[in-house]
Formats: sequence, C-alpha cells, structure tokens
Amino acid sequence: MARKMVVVGGVAAGMSAAAKAKRTDPELEVVVYERTGYVSYGGCGLPYFVAGLFDDPRRLVARTPEQFARQGIRVHIRHQVEGIDPERREVRVRNLETGEAFVDAYDVLVLTTGGRPARPPIPGLDLPGAFPLRTVEDGIRLRRFLEREGPRRAVILGGGYIGVEMAEALRTRGLEVTIVEALPQILPGFDPEMAERVREHLEAHGVSVLTGHPVTALEGRGRVERVQAGDRTLEADLAVIALGVKPNAELAREAGIALGATGAVAVDERQRTNLPDHYAAGDVAEVLHRVTGEPAYLPLGTTANKQGRVAGANAAGGHAVFKGVVGTAVFKAFELGAARTGLSEAQARARGWEVKVSQIQHGSRAHYYPGGGPVHVRLIYRPDGRLVGGQIVGPWEAVKRIDVLAAALQAGWTVQDLRELDLAYAPPFSPVWDPLLVAANVAR
Ligand code: FAD
Ligand code: NAD
Repeated sequence: MARKMVVVGGVAAGMSAAAKAKRTDPELEVVVYERTGYVSYGGCGLPYFVAGLFDDPRRLVARTPEQFARQGIRVHIRHQVEGIDPERREVRVRNLETGEAFVDAYDVLVLTTGGRPARPPIPGLDLPGAFPLRTVEDGIRLRRFLEREGPRRAVILGGGYIGVEMAEALRTRGLEVTIVEALPQILPGFDPEMAERVREHLEAHGVSVLTGHPVTALEGRGRVERVQAGDRTLEADLAVIALGVKPNAELAREAGIALGATGAVAVDERQRTNLPDHYAAGDVAEVLHRVTGEPAYLPLGTTANKQGRVAGANAAGGHAVFKGVVGTAVFKAFELGAARTGLSEAQARARGWEVKVSQIQHGSRAHYYPGGGPVHVRLIYRPDGRLVGGQIVGPWEAVKRIDVLAAALQAGWTVQDLRELDLAYAPPFSPVWDPLLVAANVAR
C-alpha cells in the first residue's frame, strides 16, 4: 500500500514540502491541511497589495489547490489540525466550514504551521481598526478598511520589517503615518548608524518616527482612536500591529515534538524533529546560523521554501540537507533599500566577540552617469579579517549587492578575499571601484 504524508500548513514551507515529496516519490499519497482560505501565497507581497500596486489578492497565490490536485496533491483549505497523535500516527482535523471533526492517519508528517504576529499583553490590540498583517485575509481586511472607511491617520506599532514596508504602503495611499518603536532605533537587526539612514529617508517622505517609546495601550470607543506610547498619545484612525513574529509551535509541543531554546521546533539538517518520521520546516522551526554555529529563529520566506523542499524530499524517502543561513534580508522603503547579512556589530559584541568595523559611502554608479545615489556599506569583521556581517543602505536597486557578502560569509572569507573580487563594472551599474571593494579596501 502507498505511504501517506500529511502536511500541516499550506504556505511557503508546506507547499514546497508537498510538491517536492510528490516529485521524489510519485506513489506517495500527499494531503495538506490549511486553516485559511488560501495556500501557496507570498505573504511578502502583502504590503504591495495594501499599497495598491495590484488589486486582485489572488495574484499573491503561486498555485491554487486545483493546480496542486493536478499534481496528485490533495489540499484541504479551511481545515484546521487540532491535535497530533504521534504514537497512532493520526491528526485530528476540523473542517472550519462545516464544523465537522475527523481523524486522518499518516505514515509521515511535515509540520509547517508557520508563525503568527506577536501580540504582547497590550490593552486594546483587539479593537476594530487594529490590523495584523500575515495572511491573505489580513491583507484583504486591511485594504477593505482603507477603501471603505478612508482613515487619515495611521499608527504603525513596531519599527521592524513590516513596520517600514507598511509605512511606505500607507503613505503611498496618502495617509499620515507614524511608526512607534520601543527601542532607541528602528530596525534592530541593523546597527544604529545604518538604521538612522532609513529613518531619515522615511522622515523625508513625511513618515513620523517615534523611537524609544513602547506602545502601552490602544484606546477608543468601539474602535481605535488613540495609541498610548509611554508619555505620548497619538491620534489614530488605524493601527497596524507589526510587533514581531512568534512560531506556531503549540501543536508540536503538545504532541511531544521538542522545541529549541528559541521556542521554535528544533530540527536537524534534514529537517527531522526528535520524533521519527516527523519533520518541521519554515517559520515554525529553528534554523542553523552558519556564522554563530547555533540554532536561531529567523523566520523568512526564502528559508521556509528551502527547508520545506528538504523536509519534503526526506519525508518521501530521498536524501536532502539544509545547511543553514547566514541571516540575509533585504527590504525597500520609498527609493531606499536596506540589506543585511551575518551579525551586526551590536549582535557580535553581545556575544563577546571582538570585532572591527569599516563603513564607507560611495556612489552606486559612475559619477557622470545619471541616477543612482550614495551607497553606505558597513563591514563587520574579526581582528584577523574574517567577515562577521555586512549591511548596505542605498538606492533600492543597488542593495542586492548584499548577496556578494552573503556568499563571502558562507565561504568563511576575510576582507582581503573580498578585496580581490572581480566584480562587474560598467558606468550604469557601479563606479569603477564598487562600494563593496571600497569598504574592503578601507577595512584593510
Ligand atoms: P506561514 O506563511 O506562517 O504559513 C503557515 C500556514 O500554516 C498558515 O497559512 C497557517 O494558517 C497554517 N496553519 C497554522 N496552524 C495550522 C493548523 N493547526 N492547521 C492548519 N493550518 C495551520 N520573507 C522574506 O524572505 N522576504 C520578504 O520580503 C518577506 N516579507 C514579508 C512581509 C510580510 C507582510 C509578512 C507577514 C512576512 C514576510 N516575510 C518575508 C516572511 C514570510 O512570509 C514567511 O517567512 C513565510 O510565509 C513562512 O512560511 P511558512 O510556510 O513557514 O509559514
Ligand atoms: P520585526 O521583528 O522585524 O519587528 C518588530 C519590531 O517591533 C521591533 O523593532 C521591536 O523592537 C518592536 N516592538 C516590539 N514590542 C514593541 C512595543 N510594545 N512597542 C513598540 N515597538 C515594539 O517584526 P515584524 O516587522 O512584525 O515582521 C515580522 C517578520 O516578518 C520579520 O521578523 C521578518 O522575518 C518578516 N518580514 C520580512 C520582510 C523582508 O525580509 N523584507 C518584510 C516583512 C516581514
């Protein structure tokens, strides 16, 4: 009889796992349970949907349940898995449309329940007018509110990745926007010198940025009207909850699947959990940080896709490994892009590492070629020259240079190795000395 794989959660990690498993073993029966109404969507596109770059939310979806069915993968949307019995190899499932509950058996399970927006105990987060942004439905609700209610003043709770991307989205729609951030700087993954450039750019586009002010309450009669942040009260018609992400790991924990120190599911390089034939991948799972050599919680779509593919291959009887990440991320706000990889100076020092820093500013194109602008590069390295991390802020089309630093980190390179790189040059793309080479030269 054919073996059966159940996948819990149908987004980046889950559908990558399902598709790869079916390709690895076409005989394998593959069933996916997803509690929302959509599978295989890019949450990463939600800020651009909210901004109005496109109108049909279905454009966020890469493949529909019908398309998966043609590949022999059975997808059940609006079905929530309520429990896992690893001894009996059964999941308890509830059909959220009919309320009906049933049990489904499996030989191998891939857990990809993802993450959810953090909801610290702040009074008023449930008030109408306060929106998290995670699922397609979240995006539709927020956009409908914008179009029907016409709010004027938006307060974004949290100055991380979603906060900054949503500041652009809402400003583009003409709202007054304030970001409220608890820490002394926005974007805690970046060193303050680099985060400050982003802040200046946001402010130049009319976004107010209030740092060092933890949000303490949302208030209003029947809907959000005010946000309390320390000694400040901000009038608001709309609040966006962007206070970080937490792994949906409760189902795993209740089933006896071990969590790591980060609170996410502990996995090995084949995405195996502590239980045989039980795999986990994506935002519910930890990932090995190749710079520190330790497990970390870095919930990103790019990692979820790779981990899911590896989990699917192994669950279907193949052999695949995921060796980890170096902590690379990139985003855009208005004309500016910012990217990071490895550890920031602050993160390295917090680990007790001695590090040096080289920070430069150089043009993104030849000085006579129209367009472009200054690129800021920050390299963090050990006294022996070994790279620890890097950050780039500049015109948004220029910051994908971070990929060079990501490759250098993965290879264990020094700033000397970086200096010797044969990077492409022509005036529309870079000055004759690329900003990365200038930063490496200065480091030496
Ligand atoms: P999720 O996307 O969280 O999917 C898990 C799914 O499991 C959910 O649909 C959930 O409904 C379902 N589920 C959970 N529990 C159950 C259950 N018990 N039964 C059934 N179903 C269940 N990453 C990047 O790399 N680059 C970006 O630019 C980027 N931008 C982003 C922008 C936004 C606004 C957001 C919210 C995220 C962004 N990310 C980005 C992160 C990226 O979207 C996530 O890392 C990725 O979606 C994780 O995929 P996943 O499959 O692990 O988890
Ligand atoms: P985040 O972790 O990037 O930022 C959360 C911010 O909220 C932090 O700066 C934190 O200090 C702040 N904060 C926490 N409690 C607060 C309080 N009480 N008051 C004020 N500020 C407070 O998380 P996010 O922006 O919600 O995004 C979630 C995840 O989605 C990210 O971790 C990232 O993995 C992913 N994402 C990635 C991208 C990208 O790669 N371009 C874009 C969007 C989202």
